[in-house]
Amino acid sequence: MEFAFTPRQRLLREAVREFMKGECDPAVTLELAKKKQFPWEIYRKAGQHGFLASYYPKELGGQGIPLLDYCIMMEEMIRHDNRIGMALSLGSIPAKVLLRFGNEEQKKRYLPKLTKGEAVSSIAVTEPNHGSDIRFLDTRAIKKGDEYILQGSKIFITNADIAEFYTVFAQTDPDAGPYRGISGFIVERETEGITAWDIGDKIGIKTTSSCIIEFREVRVPKENLLGKENHGFIYIMEALNEGRIEIASQAIGLARGAYDRALAHAKTREQFGQKIGKFQNIAHMLVEMSENIESAALLCYKALWLFDQGKMDLATSLQAKVKCPLVAIDTCLKAMQILAGYGLFEEQFLPGYLGDALATWLLEGTGQIQRNTVASQILGKL
Ligand SMILES: Cc1cc2nc3c(=O)[nH]c(=O)nc-3n(C[C@H](O)[C@H](O)[C@H](O)COP(=O)(O)OP(=O)(O)OC[C@H]3O[C@@H](n4cnc5c(N)ncnc54)[C@H](O)[C@@H]3O)c2cc1C
Repeated sequence: MEFAFTPRQRLLREAVREFMKGECDPAVTLELAKKKQFPWEIYRKAGQHGFLASYYPKELGGQGIPLLDYCIMMEEMIRHDNRIGMALSLGSIPAKVLLRFGNEEQKKRYLPKLTKGEAVSSIAVTEPNHGSDIRFLDTRAIKKGDEYILQGSKIFITNADIAEFYTVFAQTDPDAGPYRGISGFIVERETEGITAWDIGDKIGIKTTSSCIIEFREVRVPKENLLGKENHGFIYIMEALNEGRIEIASQAIGLARGAYDRALAHAKTREQFGQKIGKFQNIAHMLVEMSENIESAALLCYKALWLFDQGKMDLATSLQAKVKCPLVAIDTCLKAMQILAGYGLFEEQFLPGYLGDALATWLLEGTGQIQRNTVASQILGKL
């Protein structure tokens, strides 16, 4: 058992920290968040440095590093500035289905632009009537000759108004049983019949949009089918189970960022003639935050390590996806108590960290849904 970061992991973390220090002026990133703008300039630079989706193989523009090493980098970015780090991380997570199940031609055409920071992608699963329950979808894809005709609407789709392409999931066989009639397609945003718009203000991941997409008789060439027809649900689950560990590591970055700021405040802020860190309640809150973060991070790193060894353990991954957001939310709330009045202002980052932590709880499926799966793993058939 080895608990230390490898020399490469330390180097990557250091490089990312320096990059973030150089690129992220908090006043500028706050403005981006207020205007709900994706940080394109930093995204492109991060791509040039090889920091985006670096776990992709080299032939797709990645660095071929383990997912654990990549997540350690993303954790550090988010820790430094969540407004930028979360956006950088969310540029490529949606393309996991394509990475895992696309054919060579599809992958070479669409994925390298993500690693270079030239494009973002979206995954479109959720619909107004299908959030957690995606046994069936209302969006239809009907085969006509060499094309599929896509009709329906999606909701909450991250970056759908700026993405170059989507991986869209639709019902191809309405008569199939639950989970069995869904297929995935690569659909370019500029295709005729697509309209996508941001829904409105939200409290987290503010530098990414959350969109409704409407598909009106959209013609999709059959070459854009992902994998096999009617196998879409399996592809979603496989890709999401990997993406969920990444979301867990985002939550660790958020928790560490909130903790750093609370610790710094406790060491400098004076009341009643002493540093507030000397008050036992403040000191104990910090200790508890640190205990929680370290234990959640270990679970997350273990899930990532198992994944990289080709031994992904579903229960471990999903428990990390539950535990890390809970720890991040709790850490943010404690940090806000320590900063008290100052903690409520966006300038101190904490409201943003909290909003993002709440998002990590529900992105790629809520904690309750993950617990359902873990329960069935632990208990088996009763
Ligand atoms: C900011 C943001 C970004 C998103 N990005 C994307 C994206 O890019 N692509 C995409 O496809 N989707 C995206 N989503 C959608 C997200 O995956 C869903 O919001 C999430 O899966 C939950 O669905 P819902 O919000 O409809 O909640 P519901 O499914 O309506 O759930 C409501 C409540 O009921 C609980 N519940 C439901 N069923 C069960 C059950 N069987 N057992 C126990 N509890 C249950 C839930 O846990 C929750 O507490 C995004 C959402 C947000 C808010």
